[in-house]
Amino acid sequence: MSPIGTDSHLGVARSIRALRARVDDWRGNGLKVAFVPTMGALHRGHLSLVKMAGSLADRVVASIFVNPRQFAAHEDLSSYPRDEGIDLELLQRARCHLAYTPPASEMYPSGYQTSVTVADISKGLDGDSRPHFFGGVATVVLKLFNQCRPDIAIFGEKDFQQLLVIKRMVRDLDLNIQIVGAPIVREEDGLAMSSRNAYLSPAEREIAGRLNEVIAEVAAAVANGAAIGGALADGRAALSRAGFSVVDYLEVRSEADLAPLGPGPLDAGTPARVFVAVVLGKTRLIDNWQIVCIQAV
Ligand code: AMP
Repeated sequence: MSPIGTDSHLGVARSIRALRARVDDWRGNGLKVAFVPTMGALHRGHLSLVKMAGSLADRVVASIFVNPRQFAAHEDLSSYPRDEGIDLELLQRARCHLAYTPPASEMYPSGYQTSVTVADISKGLDGDSRPHFFGGVATVVLKLFNQCRPDIAIFGEKDFQQLLVIKRMVRDLDLNIQIVGAPIVREEDGLAMSSRNAYLSPAEREIAGRLNEVIAEVAAAVANGAAIGGALADGRAALSRAGFSVVDYLEVRSEADLAPLGPGPLDAGTPARVFVAVVLGKTRLIDNWQIVCIQAV
């Protein structure tokens, strides 16, 4: 038996060398490898990515790494939820083949100094509120790609700007990896699942349930021909009434390149989404909603 597990049981690799040994073995046997990067504290959203990966490839690797380079000094790096035991059990049940859980010293050894910038698509939305964020994400994802060398990697549409940043990086740097986006998995009341939802107090959790409803209302208004500027103003008023006192952004942007849209009505041929970020107490929540225009026949 391999020291890092058989194919029906979840293996655990804690070093680049152990990861490569396993993946090289699979590739040598002609197997297709899919990769799901995560920061752990796994929920059904993450597990839907693992399941999608399993439907697209022969072997699935999921990484668990809370990447210090995508947190600013004032953010929640030290309090970010971590429970490796539960995460490994969930990955095993979701039929993941290998969990890659490198220590920070493996990812950023002493003397480390390189970073990746994906210029334009990293600007606006979360790039404005969290200027350090997409550089940190692109850097760690490129490193993880080089370490794992997968055929396919799955990212959630929950972090839509991140998905586009990674797609841009893969095209720009000629990486031979197919990037696949996976739909947002939501709680029963529609709140997008997130590891950070665990921070919400019961009162905040109640308010948070309105976030998806408000952006769905904005999306429906725009789909029905309302001017984007007016729909966003109504959306901001609705967020305020619901108890969201801090709104980082509420915007309608192109799905293709995140170009800002409005203030007039949406051209029905332009794929677009409503994007929102709010802060509730100590918790920052993001969500997005596709605008589906029904064409008249
Ligand atoms: P994270 O652990 O937050 O870095 O997320 C790891 C991956 O899971 C990213 O590709 C996220 O977009 C994805 N993800 C997180 N939450 C959800 C969700 N509710 N639905 C679908 N994918 C998600």
